[in-house]
Formats: sequence, C-alpha cells, structure tokens
Amino acid sequence: MTTGQKGRYTGKVAFVTGAANGIGRATALAFAREGASVVVADISEKGNEETARMIGELGGRALSVRCDVTRGEDVKAALDKVVEGFGRLDAAFNNAGAEQPVKATADLAEEEWDRIIRVNLRSVFLCMKYEIPLMLRNGGGTIVNTSSGAGIVAVKRQGAYAAAKFGVTGLSKVAARDYAQWNIRVNAVCPGIIDTPMMERFTGGTPEGRKRVIAQEPVGRMGKPEEIAATVLWLCSDEAAFVVGHAMVVDGGQTVGL
Ligand code: NAD
Repeated sequence: MTTGQKGRYTGKVAFVTGAANGIGRATALAFAREGASVVVADISEKGNEETARMIGELGGRALSVRCDVTRGEDVKAALDKVVEGFGRLDAAFNNAGAEQPVKATADLAEEEWDRIIRVNLRSVFLCMKYEIPLMLRNGGGTIVNTSSGAGIVAVKRQGAYAAAKFGVTGLSKVAARDYAQWNIRVNAVCPGIIDTPMMERFTGGTPEGRKRVIAQEPVGRMGKPEEIAATVLWLCSDEAAFVVGHAMVVDGGQTVGL
C-alpha cells in the first residue's frame, strides 16, 4: 500500500523513537504507508532526517526531531513538536535503545550500568510520562515499548541490558493497568535477533558472527525489522483493542522452551 490510500492509520499521528535506523525506521515507514503522519525522533540527526525523507518519498507526512531520549527536556520538546506539527498523538512506539558490551555482571563498570539503564529504561519512562497526558487529552491512544528476548529470559553477560529490558516489560504492564480505563493501551514488543545496525555491531558484521547468532534461532535466520514493525502496527491498531499489558515475543522461536 502506498500512502494516501486508506490505511489503518489514515488521519492518525504516530511518534517513533530510535527512528534513524533498524526497527524504528521500518516502523516509521510502516505507519506512514498505512496513512499516519509520523514524527520521527532520534539522537542521530542524519539518519532521522533520512527516514523523514523516505516517508516523504512515499507521499507521507513526516517531521524529524532530534531528541536524546535519556533527557526529559528533549522528550518533552519532541512531543511539543508532535502537537505543533500535527495537533494530536494517537500512537507511540518507544523504541530507541542501545546494546551493552558482553560482560559478566561484576565486570560491568558503574558508568556502563548507568548508561544502559538510562537509554533503555529511563527513556521509556520519560516518553510515557510526556505522551500519556497528550493521549488523555484526546480521549485515548496506544503505546508500544521495545523490550527484548533479553527482557523475558536470562541471557548471559547481559546484566544491565536485561535489567533495563525486564524493566521495560514491567513498566509497560503497570502503565497498561494505570491507564486502560482511560482508553490508553500499553503493550511491549520483545524482538529476537533482528537484522539491524545494532545486530551488525553485536556480530562484528562477519559471516561467522552472524552464523553464531543465527544458531540461536530455530527458524534458521534473523528476523527483519519489518517483521517487528508489522507487530507494532497490529498492537497499536483497533484489531488489538483487547490486548492490554502484553509483552509480545517476536523471535523466531529463540526463547521458546528456555
Ligand atoms: P539500532 O541501533 O539499529 O537503532 C537504534 C536507534 O536508537 C538508533 O537510530 C540510535 O541512534 C537511536 N538511539 C540510541 N540512543 C539514543 C538516544 N539516547 N536518544 C535517541 N535515540 C537514540 O537498533 P535496533 O536493532 O533497531 O533496536 C531498536 C530497539 O530494539 C532497541 O531498543 C533494542 O534494544 C531493541 N532490540 C533489538 C534487537 C535486535 O536484534 N536488533 C533485539 C531485541 C531488542
């Protein structure tokens, strides 16, 4: 479907963080293809503007905002731009995040712990803190937060990342209960191994590195960012109206049986 045609998100406004790359970019494009106006937010201005340009090329409406999701003032300013630009907020995908170095728990530096918690967990709290009042004003909305397979099972040498991503799952469930009665649905998505720049860094980008992580996937391949995007769009849609506080695992079977 190209933009302009009637899609599930025609007339809606979506906000996507971490939109300069990977899962965030794919989801921003998917929202636009289904008719949404999209505000893309990322700390990387260049990639973010490129995502907005790609949406424009599809015939969609996008606004690019530079935003460090670990800073409350940046998140608030980005959401002010959503309202200035498009008047309302219907769907938010709080997705920006970063990987941690592969290290056993006691080997993590205090600064590494703080950085990983800030970018993966504090960020989600800040986004919801400033999104929810806008949605309450509209009579409702939908939020999806990016957790991880590492947010539901114990992945060795990923202590800070796991603490953050388990935190995202828990926070999503509590926020879901806090606001369900106000017609705001909050869910989380837990991706498996997805082929993005983050995974490229994690594997070192080598065929051996890729093979090593693919070995964890029963389906024998990495997931595509578009496969997470499709899940997010479904979770934010009316088709998922009864799905509240769910942590949806989309991982090719990676964590089944663990
Ligand atoms: P990516 O590195 O390709 O993209 C992440 C984006 O977040 C980048 O554009 C980056 O600039 C942005 N970002 C980082 N710090 C930021 C900050 N402080 N403020 C604003 N933006 C910031 O990663 P991805 O693979 O697309 O990951 C997206 C999300 O999915 C992350 O939360 C990640 O933890 C999660 N995830 C990824 C995988 C995977 O296999 N790729 C698996 C599970 C969960």
